[in-house]
Amino acid sequence: MKVLVCGGAGYIGSNMTAMLVSQGHEPVVFDNLSKGHRSAVKDVPFVSGDLADFGLLIDTLHKYEIEGVMHFAAFIEVGESVAEPLRYYHNNFNNAHNLLCAMDDAGVRKFVFSSTAAVYGIPETVPITEELTKAPISPYGDSKLNVEKMCSFQSETGRLNYAALRYFNACGAGGGGTIGEDHSPESHLIPLIIQAAMGKREDIKIFGTDYPTPDGTCVRDYIHIEDLCKAHLLALSKLDTERELVYNLGNGTGYSVREVIETVKKVSGKDFKVTETGRRPGDPPVLTADASKARKELGWKTDFPELEAIVESAWKWHTLHPDGYND
Ligand code: UDP
Repeated sequence: MKVLVCGGAGYIGSNMTAMLVSQGHEPVVFDNLSKGHRSAVKDVPFVSGDLADFGLLIDTLHKYEIEGVMHFAAFIEVGESVAEPLRYYHNNFNNAHNLLCAMDDAGVRKFVFSSTAAVYGIPETVPITEELTKAPISPYGDSKLNVEKMCSFQSETGRLNYAALRYFNACGAGGGGTIGEDHSPESHLIPLIIQAAMGKREDIKIFGTDYPTPDGTCVRDYIHIEDLCKAHLLALSKLDTERELVYNLGNGTGYSVREVIETVKKVSGKDFKVTETGRRPGDPPVLTADASKARKELGWKTDFPELEAIVESAWKWHTLHPDGYND
């Protein structure tokens, strides 16, 4: 299938693009390179552009005869979204609206949307099923939930078939450790700990040690990037016939911040300084997925159920690319 990958130069988008190619699809990457890396995309058409550019979107959809769109081009930092809500609603909601308008105009109806566990806010129970109350506590989560709602209403017109995939914590490197995670500035836990292990930062800070969790630090469900991308392919193939698909994507196992730090120490064989600091705004104590719906309906299976193997792949990428992508 000819697939437009919005945000295809970013961490998840570049892994997705490589997987689409390996499975015989024809991806076209659309990215403004505000966060992504040109060198993370190899041997596929690349459109340098912004999702706010309606004309360019229309031209691209027609030129490449796009049949489906995967949308990864969004801001992703919970803490930053609390500090800058308007920027988040603009990029994550307004630009998604523009993209959906362009798709509607061009008659493209298949849409796979990167959603997030942050749509649930502080969940009533864990592991989280898709039916739980959606009450985001950050502008990031709310901006994503609003896009889901827009998709749902639009799908009722019969002009959109969409999948909203609610990611838990995407991590690790794909392509055998060759397609990795490189944000600037880095804000995600595993790459930050790895940078501390490599001596590239002074310490790793734990954001909050007074959460109601076994060791006082936040618990998250870490899912390998390739497992995540596999679910997108499965969802895309169902959009021939399905109007609305919503799935949690996680392993179902929770690891605390302290446990993730210990795992990086074990995998890397390095010791480094750990500093306990206050909570980061917008962080729920525990987020773990019940992904049985995706397993049952999509036939989704994960290859990386254990954190250690996920961290090994990330460690491999970081040691091969000590300065990141360099572009
Ligand atoms: N975290 C931390 N120190 C850091 C970065 C993150 O303690 O330097 C914590 C953060 O508060 C959260 C978990 O690690 O509980 C995962 O954060 P990340 O930003 O990687 O992903 P998120 O859960 O926000 O999607």
